[in-house]
Amino acid sequence: MITRLHGAECIDGIGESRVRDLVLDGETICSAVPKDSRIDFEYCLDGHILIAGGIDLHTHIGGGKVNIARLLLPELVEHQTSQSKRTGQEPNWIAPLSSPVPGTWETGRRYLEMGYTACFEPAVLPANARQAHAEMADTPWLDTGGYLLLGNDRLLLEWIRDEVPQKQINDYVGWMVRAHQCCAVKVVNAGGIDAFKFNQRHLSVDDKHVHFGITPRQILNALAQAVESLELAHPLHVHCSNLGLAGNISATMATLDAVEGRRLHLTHAQFHCYGTDGPHGYSSAAQLLADRVNADSHFSIDVGQVQFGQTVTLSGDTMHQFANRNLARPRKAIFQDLECQAGCGVLPFRYRQDQYVHGLLWTIGIELFLRIEDPLRVFLTSDHPNGAPFTSYPHLIRLLMDYDFRMSIFSQLHPDVQKSSPLPSLKREYSLEEIIKMTRLGPARALGLKNRGSLSDGSLADVVAYERNQNPEQMFARPRMVFRRGKLVYRDGIFLADTVKSTVVSNHPVDSQMDGWLRRIWRARYGYSTEMIEVHADELRSEGQIVEWS
Ligand SMILES: [Zn+2]
Repeated sequence: MITRLHGAECIDGIGESRVRDLVLDGETICSAVPKDSRIDFEYCLDGHILIAGGIDLHTHIGGGKVNIARLLLPELVEHQTSQSKRTGQEPNWIAPLSSPVPGTWETGRRYLEMGYTACFEPAVLPANARQAHAEMADTPWLDTGGYLLLGNDRLLLEWIRDEVPQKQINDYVGWMVRAHQCCAVKVVNAGGIDAFKFNQRHLSVDDKHVHFGITPRQILNALAQAVESLELAHPLHVHCSNLGLAGNISATMATLDAVEGRRLHLTHAQFHCYGTDGPHGYSSAAQLLADRVNADSHFSIDVGQVQFGQTVTLSGDTMHQFANRNLARPRKAIFQDLECQAGCGVLPFRYRQDQYVHGLLWTIGIELFLRIEDPLRVFLTSDHPNGAPFTSYPHLIRLLMDYDFRMSIFSQLHPDVQKSSPLPSLKREYSLEEIIKMTRLGPARALGLKNRGSLSDGSLADVVAYERNQNPEQMFARPRMVFRRGKLVYRDGIFLADTVKSTVVSNHPVDSQMDGWLRRIWRARYGYSTEMIEVHADELRSEGQIVEWS
């Protein structure tokens, strides 16, 4: 099937942005209609832009804690509705969701109607991988992939304590990533989730785990070496120690040092970027982090932008979620362990514009966006749903592109935030091309997805048409058309039948000796066979998914 899109400006951050025809030939993009071919569909898109489908590389869309969050907050649907009726205004996010953590169908639908076509679940617990894959497969209109959570699993901690050869750790990581059909490795508060199970309440980068006697620095280093040695496309994806604590910038900088020159992706960096200055002993350290990222091309970040309103925070970081339990609004929380592999803490949270710390978090996220120069190494995320639901993205894009609009919100924040924040002096306004790089090309490259994120010949024909609009919030909230793999799946508010979906899985070599070894260890340690937890590629295919190797 051949579709020709005519009259729109094609923008991808690689080639020159200009009005030209874009041809979708089957599942891929080509610059011209192949000779002697018939055009099946043609759309005139004067006054539109054409860009690649959006890629969200950090959004919680599947797995245990996502479901817990769904179950924890049924009353928020009612809260949102009654609040809107009272104020006569829409709830804080752009397109109201039925809950801050919607079900799979609504997740796919809301992402598609913003022009996103691929999303990555960043915290797949090994014991829970099958469920995470099932939920991602059940999320329509999105290709997906998962990052495997390691770094608090007892076996790995014991091996690091016992100073086993690095090759053994590499082979273990390789086996685990493949056995759970993931494409990257995530570490959350390295060693800290496990230390909390021994009642340790704090574990910075060079502190020792009370039981194992090892430090987060050792764990980070071992995992970064494994990721490098396995040649995984995405670098180690790190949620640092000391989440949310004043002064945590020192731990964040120490984390960047811990990988000794290897690549590293720092996730929801906004939550790890605080100093101890200012009237409340809680201040922005965004400049320190941004300077470091600007100076070293090994590092990339996603921001985890906060927006004001009700959401729910869910994290594997049980240690710090437990510390924040009294901040939960409404006042409830759930904490869990699963097979001593990691943890989970779920707290509802209401970010308030007139509250000092909440306002400060909002400014710090935006500061990071504005201070990091290369849009291919800073990615637009809200750490959905932790900073805000993903439906806040069009609003965030306008904040980045429009200084006056940004200042109109800033002027409503707590007076002490306004006095201390450098935000008014940061006059940068993102260009449309920079926004497109940050949400398409950048994440595709960070994940090693060579056929996505651009409009180059041979790329996957995931293409979005937006009608030009002076207000980028309105423009990015509603595309005119979305194509997935060359097929029109959304047009003018109408959702059309989806095409096939894929899951991205890392194609690294797996050591066969490790396989037999782990089978014996698993039986002795957990009392069941590894066959129970392994997810096979054929299993994903039987759900109708394509396994896409990275
Ligand atoms: Zn996250």
